[in-house]
Amino acid sequence: MKAGPTPILDASIAEVSGSAPVAARRSRLATVARFVVVAPWLLCLLTFGCTAPDESARPPPDPGTADSSLDSLALEVVGASDARDDDTAHVGLPFWMPDPGGFKVFFIDVGQGDATIVIADDGTTMLVDGGRNSTLLATRLQSFQLKNIDVIVATHADSDHIGGLVAAFAAFDVKTVYWNGGKKETEVFNAFLNAATNEGAKLVTPRRGDSFKLGNLPVDVVHPAALSGNHNDDSIVLQTGCSGSWVLLTGDAEANAEKEMLTKFGISDIDVLKVGHHGSKSGTSQPFVDALKPKHGIISAGRDNAYGHPDAAVTGRLKKAGAEIIETDLDENDDTVMMTATCKLKYTFSRPFW
Ligand SMILES: [Zn+2]
Repeated sequence: MKAGPTPILDASIAEVSGSAPVAARRSRLATVARFVVVAPWLLCLLTFGCTAPDESARPPPDPGTADSSLDSLALEVVGASDARDDDTAHVGLPFWMPDPGGFKVFFIDVGQGDATIVIADDGTTMLVDGGRNSTLLATRLQSFQLKNIDVIVATHADSDHIGGLVAAFAAFDVKTVYWNGGKKETEVFNAFLNAATNEGAKLVTPRRGDSFKLGNLPVDVVHPAALSGNHNDDSIVLQTGCSGSWVLLTGDAEANAEKEMLTKFGISDIDVLKVGHHGSKSGTSQPFVDALKPKHGIISAGRDNAYGHPDAAVTGRLKKAGAEIIETDLDENDDTVMMTATCKLKYTFSRPFW
């Protein structure tokens, strides 16, 4: 088992002060570690005198709504001048525990596959997909020393998403399992369904427009409304977060699913996009990028994978829209990406296991 993760406090201070020698990999950390996002409402407050929005719930989507002028004014400051305050507040808590009112998202390095952990400020924990390999997921989870995983979401039946989940069922008392209802005649799928059934957890098939709370964190089901038979496009897509820190978890949803999300759900203005289908050229269409205007695109793909993920056209599209690309598998180390959101003004990224 690994020793405890590199404290974010130390990493932050070293980068801010420049007083500590940094390893080569830390230079990559500098490219992702400190993005301070000032929420649009602050500008609104300064410019128009409006009040802060209710951060506990997102306004209902409106497909016809034009781009928000406030969002177009959103200011992104690259730096860490305020980060130390929050890190100080973190002393005494496990590194994965959000500060009160905030949340954390871990985009786990599972090589070619997806596994994401969302943790609310009361410690309620949701695992969205588990990668392909249960041994690898178990190793990754040991690094966290999590106390609980309350909710498991299997976005769809592909093995690079559900293969590892049996390790989570074995290690935790899971209360609720969300799956899209789509079956596959594979050993991996049968193992997943057996584990979920034997867990005694509530099995839920969510549909577009459903929502639930993870602690106090709202989670909206963006997709699907019904199964189409296309495994990737039937992925469960979830939106979670708070004002200025909205996250979209897309599974392997591709262009057809994106079109539905745009026209039927009215998805827009996402801060952090878990890029669909590992950055495949079959997804992250231009209209989707235009509507979401993501500030960061997380790509969960194995380094040097045989599929050519992520596709250069996809990363190019995201970059052109102003999004920073952050990948989960850069080398043989655990490159897991941690998003820390305070739900006040900003969120930051770091690599807790470097
Ligand atoms: Zn996949």
